[in-house]
Amino acid sequence: MLRLGLDIGGTKIEAQLLDDKGACLLRQRIPTPNQQYDTFLDAVTTLIHHYRTEFPSPFSVGIGLPGAISPDNGRIKNSNILILNGQDLQADLAARLEQPVSLANDADCFALSEAVDGAGKDGKTVFGAILGTGCGGGVVVNKQLLSGPNAIAGEWGHNLLPGYTPEQDGTSQPCYCGRSNCLERFVSGTGFATRFNQRYDTAFSAADIMAAKGQGDHHASTHYQHFIDALARSLGSVINLIDPHVIVLGGGLSNIDSLYDDLPAALLPYVFSDRCNTKLVKAKHGDSSGVRGAAWLPGMSA
Ligand SMILES: [Zn+2]
Repeated sequence: MLRLGLDIGGTKIEAQLLDDKGACLLRQRIPTPNQQYDTFLDAVTTLIHHYRTEFPSPFSVGIGLPGAISPDNGRIKNSNILILNGQDLQADLAARLEQPVSLANDADCFALSEAVDGAGKDGKTVFGAILGTGCGGGVVVNKQLLSGPNAIAGEWGHNLLPGYTPEQDGTSQPCYCGRSNCLERFVSGTGFATRFNQRYDTAFSAADIMAAKGQGDHHASTHYQHFIDALARSLGSVINLIDPHVIVLGGGLSNIDSLYDDLPAALLPYVFSDRCNTKLVKAKHGDSSGVRGAAWLPGMSA
């Protein structure tokens, strides 16, 4: 069975058709229509019809997108693609295509992609976490995406940073969610850079900070050490809760290679065990994880 995945982003929609081994047969990208919902539906339908013309044998359709799918009514909420909020995209597309459509949050798609045939493929339980603009996450058990009554499984970014103290972690960090000191204010790419710039009155990106660390800058090194400790606290609580076999990291900060050397020792004080056997790995599929995970959704999610 062929699988079509669509990764819907704020500026572009990427589609990939995978065969049953996960090889990509055809990749397409179109701009995301973000003014009117009907125009958006037209564009997605046209894109899928194009695949139907190219590949006459049937294929499943899975879609990943930013935001959450309300477990109460199936409508999209909290998406930064504003025209999608309040819409029942799953039902609307299924009606137009006359076939079922699976839908999930893009962080869930990331986790599923890495668990099926990515860096977490050998793990029974996989926690996938994105350290990017925010800190999305997803949990996959036996190649099945975990889901619950609130549709927030794996959404760890707005947990409070474990053990936060002003002395250790600096000034309180307000979060757009309305609370303060959510862990993504500290361990996302955005949080990592923002806190450095607040403290030293700079305009550094995360990459700039790491470059400065590489040149021996004391402030950058200290900031990185704090980041490792904050990430260890954040992931330690995940390990204590679900004991994943593999934690796969994605997003910009996952490209910091030293992280995979420094985190295991940093985790130990926060894991309720005398050792930590959890594998910590970098995502394999990079920017394609979202679209690949979307393709794997049918049959692998609730
Ligand atoms: Zn928050």
